[in-house]
Amino acid sequence: MSRAVLLVCFAVSLALAPLVDASVASPRGACNVAGDTIEVDVALIGGGVAGPFAAVKLADVYKKTVVLIDSKDHLGGHVDTAAVPNPAAPGNFFPVDYGVQGYLNLPVTREFFQTFGINLVSTGSALNLVQVFVDFKTGKLVNLPAPSDSAATGAPLQKYAELCQKYFCFIFPNYNLPSPLGPDEKDLGTNFGQFVTKYNLEPIVPIVAGFLQVLSPTDPEPFLVPESHNNSEIYGKIQAHLAGPQLLLSSSVTKVTRSSGGAGAGGVNELWVQTPSGGGGCKHIAAKKILVTMAQTSENMAVFDLDSTEKSVIKSV
Ligand SMILES: Cc1cc2nc3c(=O)[nH]c(=O)nc-3n(C[C@H](O)[C@H](O)[C@H](O)COP(=O)(O)OP(=O)(O)OC[C@H]3O[C@@H](n4cnc5c(N)ncnc54)[C@H](O)[C@@H]3O)c2cc1C
Repeated sequence: MSRAVLLVCFAVSLALAPLVDASVASPRGACNVAGDTIEVDVALIGGGVAGPFAAVKLADVYKKTVVLIDSKDHLGGHVDTAAVPNPAAPGNFFPVDYGVQGYLNLPVTREFFQTFGINLVSTGSALNLVQVFVDFKTGKLVNLPAPSDSAATGAPLQKYAELCQKYFCFIFPNYNLPSPLGPDEKDLGTNFGQFVTKYNLEPIVPIVAGFLQVLSPTDPEPFLVPESHNNSEIYGKIQAHLAGPQLLLSSSVTKVTRSSGGAGAGGVNELWVQTPSGGGGCKHIAAKKILVTMAQTSENMAVFDLDSTEKSVIKSV
């Protein structure tokens, strides 16, 4: 199940419900709220890559009020950069990216970095990736050589290419899945393991694992990096841009109660957020819409008032 489906599920404002007096009501699992309610158009949970982009666009372009919540103390999610001391210049540091290595060279990427005054350049030799196969359950390296027998890989590769072509418009440049999925689109609701089994793609998994997801056919440079070669640079700038009550870092949502009147009904959703003790304690947020960009695991989503269908969808991801 793709993230986009779930985003649609949870981004939609669901209801018309009167705001409870947060200082009085304290639902099970929610922290006690002493302060005022923060009222916003959109509450975003997850300050990785998607959350900050959406928050900036919503606030700056669409003039919406937002609050962006992340459990870490900084934005960027899987964009992770270490500051490594430069032995030749004490007190100076090299940025070393150990998460995202480069940004897809797309108009939306270039435009967004430009907004923050960051020049993007070719990755050059910076993007020198080595492929290894790791069992995520054990963390151990596994020997999974790509099959060299073209008789075994020809038909599955052909099938995979056909399927990529069929679903291309739904997955590029971003996930944009039909909802509900049509009879011909059921594959988009399965996980990759099920997809591989259904189409007998097992022989080519080591090969497709190395494919770059999508490259612009006309652009020889599929990935770009900031001139500083610090992929986190933009998140530092976004953090400064959003700084204030609308940015809740090192914070965790303890309870979400969605309204139930349907999109456009003018209802609100309520969130209770535990912020660091020095940073204001518990916050109560009333949001017209919620946008979830954190990983939608059962654990993360347990704070939501999910129904049984939603729970089973999330469990199957
Ligand atoms: C090692 C690695 C290298 C990659 N390299 C590239 C690359 O070179 N180029 C590329 O285009 N893509 C790359 N990717 C993929 C890219 O990182 C993802 O596509 C992108 O990060 C997805 O953004 P996101 O906002 O959906 O999720 P994330 O970036 O994962 O952000 C999710 C955010 O949610 C927060 N969160 C989680 N749980 C909670 C919670 N309970 N409450 C509040 N917040 C929570 C997390 O702290 C995080 O900040 C790489 C991924 C990895 C793991």
